[in-house]
Amino acid sequence: MKGTPSMGKRQKRSHIRCRRCGSISFNFKRKVCVSCGFGRTPKTRSYKWMRKAGY
Ligand SMILES: [Zn+2]
Repeated sequence: MKGTPSMGKRQKRSHIRCRRCGSISFNFKRKVCVSCGFGRTPKTRSYKWMRKAGY
């Protein structure tokens, strides 16, 4: 079982919906959101390279 077809068997969810940013990026095991940094930092996760959008 290797390759793309076996991706259909991936039913385990390591990420659930984050209650701060709303995206499916909250790691259930680590209790950390990889999108906004919820659980890791009190502030919203942001990087310099994310400011390209112009705000
Ligand atoms: Zn989040």
